[in-house]
Amino acid sequence: MHVDGSCHCGAIQYEAEIDPDAAMICHCTDCQTLSSTAFRVNAPANAKDFSIIKGNPKEYVKFGESGRRRAQGFCSNCGTQIYATSAEEPRTIFMIRVGTMTQRAKVTPKIQAWHRSSLKWLGQLSEIPALEKT
Ligand SMILES: [Zn+2]
Ligand SMILES: [Zn+2]
Repeated sequence: MHVDGSCHCGAIQYEAEIDPDAAMICHCTDCQTLSSTAFRVNAPANAKDFSIIKGNPKEYVKFGESGRRRAQGFCSNCGTQIYATSAEEPRTIFMIRVGTMTQRAKVTPKIQAWHRSSLKWLGQLSEIPALEKT
């Protein structure tokens, strides 16, 4: 599936060919902290199918629980997270943050990873009073 996206300030723009059937939610505690919210939603693209067409993301390298070093690409101006990939070359897969995609409403996650650390209120979302606007 062809997608395009950008960070909030527009300094970074990309295009990619993602696999929507591999879109996933990650409930790991690193995703909670790095996103400063409840979970992240990602979809993978092969490195050859992911192009930064504007700007130059900054990368923060973290150690995953597996011990692998993972580069987290984000906009150094507005802080929007764009992708994660291997910190080492060659990079084969980019996990793209679905919330930055123009087509995000069309990408439905197919699986939830690290569910053991998911925030328990997520299961009660439909019971929380909802406003169409603030
Ligand atoms: Zn930005
Ligand atoms: Zn995670």
